[in-house]
Amino acid sequence: MWEDSVGPGARQPICALTAAHIDDFDRSELMKFKDAGLDVMESKPCNIPRLFKVVDDMFKSLQLPAIACALVALSSAAAQSDEYTKIDNHPCLRDYNGITKSMFDLADANPTLATVTDIGDTYLKLHPGSAITEMSDIPEDGFDIWGFNVTNSDSSHTSDEKAKVLIISGVHSREYATSELNMRFAEKLLDGFGDNSDINWILNHTEVHFIFTANPDGRYMAESDVELWWRKNANFENGSTCDHPEDNPGVDMNRNYPFAWGREDGASADPCMDDFFGSAPGSEPEVQAVIAYAKSIFPEHQFLDDPENSIDMERGENTTGVFIDIHSSGRMIYYPWGFVDQIAPDDDALQAFGRKLAKADDPSRDHVLWAPEQPDFMYPASGDATDYMYGALGVASFGFEIGQNFDEDCPVFEDEVVADNIPALMYAVKAASLPLFYSQGPDILSLSVHVDEEYEESSNEIHISVKASDSELVNIENYPTFHTGDQAVNGVTLFLDVHPENHNGAGHTWELAFVDTKDGIDTFGKVVRMPSDVSPGRHIVYAQAVDSDGYLGPVTSSWIDVPEITNPNQLLDGDGMINPCEVTIGRSSNSPLTVDCDKIGKQEEPRKEIKPLIEEIDNGTRSKALSLASLAATAIVGLVL
Ligand SMILES: [Zn+2]
Repeated sequence: MWEDSVGPGARQPICALTAAHIDDFDRSELMKFKDAGLDVMESKPCNIPRLFKVVDDMFKSLQLPAIACALVALSSAAAQSDEYTKIDNHPCLRDYNGITKSMFDLADANPTLATVTDIGDTYLKLHPGSAITEMSDIPEDGFDIWGFNVTNSDSSHTSDEKAKVLIISGVHSREYATSELNMRFAEKLLDGFGDNSDINWILNHTEVHFIFTANPDGRYMAESDVELWWRKNANFENGSTCDHPEDNPGVDMNRNYPFAWGREDGASADPCMDDFFGSAPGSEPEVQAVIAYAKSIFPEHQFLDDPENSIDMERGENTTGVFIDIHSSGRMIYYPWGFVDQIAPDDDALQAFGRKLAKADDPSRDHVLWAPEQPDFMYPASGDATDYMYGALGVASFGFEIGQNFDEDCPVFEDEVVADNIPALMYAVKAASLPLFYSQGPDILSLSVHVDEEYEESSNEIHISVKASDSELVNIENYPTFHTGDQAVNGVTLFLDVHPENHNGAGHTWELAFVDTKDGIDTFGKVVRMPSDVSPGRHIVYAQAVDSDGYLGPVTSSWIDVPEITNPNQLLDGDGMINPCEVTIGRSSNSPLTVDCDKIGKQEEPRKEIKPLIEEIDNGTRSKALSLASLAATAIVGLVL
């Protein structure tokens, strides 16, 4: 539903060789790849289709030794893709060991981007051997619980300055696809860094934290015996009377959070029921681990002193941070409140955000809102993680119910679950710094950058086009239109190289011009003339739209590969004089070259040396205008556009 930002100048995704592969051959060979124009990135996981593309390119452009190297890497990468163990009969879904090994391998391969932290122990690790033994394959010694932080540690932003996201999965152990989806998203971020401009700024500005398997004891049992349909953890303290397999012991970790805990209309007091809320609020070590990790991430000033007496208090549009809990199944998005069918005080913003998460790749698969005062509010769930994170820690908080089954079929997982939910997770991380504000603003649906064909010889024009909409993502199938999407898109601003949140008047910005509107989607565009202080090479341009109520939307970006103008010096006079005034070049129409200093109130008059040329153009022919446009292009030097 959201296009990746793609500029024609942006290079195609290029193979990334892992550090291990690179060690297989001489580094001078690596330089051959790079010299041939291939972005071979070290220390990044290899993607087979990309590697095929590299091999294909090399047949066209490189000599045999380099091809041999790529083929070595290819076979090595193919072996690696099968390295991770899968859930029985689900070749697309890694099991607990596969997910955990993947996590450690990613951290090893991306030392500046990914960190693993031991965030606590499972019930069985704290109480080894305590589970009932007649059940098959109890993990007697339990497990560690791991947090995984994905961010660029080399960014200029400190951890305190970065927006925070926490995405957890595998809370309910039989919901197999949740951990795989979460891992795919982490892999997308790590694989895309350095390549995808949005992922670059996201990881420079944001810490995306993951807990892939929030319930490892339970997951172990669910994988050992699919027939168990194991959901809860392995705390059997209160479950000695349960008549397994019909009724299972264990605590439902998504009813154990210390917020609205213990309500029997949203959970069960019966230890044998699937939604048993446990012996006390936050009694379970797995829940304690998630809470402690969340408190270490999210800003303390947003925590509430008396959460249960603050359910009517707006958290407000300055709220920062996003929590997501991935469950399955049913193609649903939920958000507070869950313990009661009553809207939360920030419902406008939460609902707008939830609807944008619910937007699917195919409209027929738009998710439903299991949300207060919506027709699909199925039943209350009390003591759940999503209510806790919003109610007690004050962050924007959402739950996913992905796909159609606990044990999702692989074609459905790949073609629908991944296709629908990875873009939704990307939306969430883009909006994480101000989720309850950005969700009410317009979205950039596409951003295209086109470098003028004559740039290298005479032009310095870059054509930028943006499609933006206040309504497109917030309005989903089978629901009435939502009022946060009723406003017109008032404008789109481009920021060169400086992220809008860090802008403070620095760097170049441009306002795009409205072009047209169709079906609620507005097109804006501009021919941007690159100022001369922008060096040739790769830059990033950020776009952000604003609606008529003043709400900004999330930022979308694209690379701009600024070409070198072949010989700019010949266009200057002998003293290197330049015209500081605004120049309009009639390149694509028959309008003449003009200079208008008054229009922009520049402090300097045009240089005399330039004036005769302008007059010549004013009186001259198109061909003269074209040849002199180059001069004018250079004459823009020093202007703030
Ligand atoms: Zn669940």
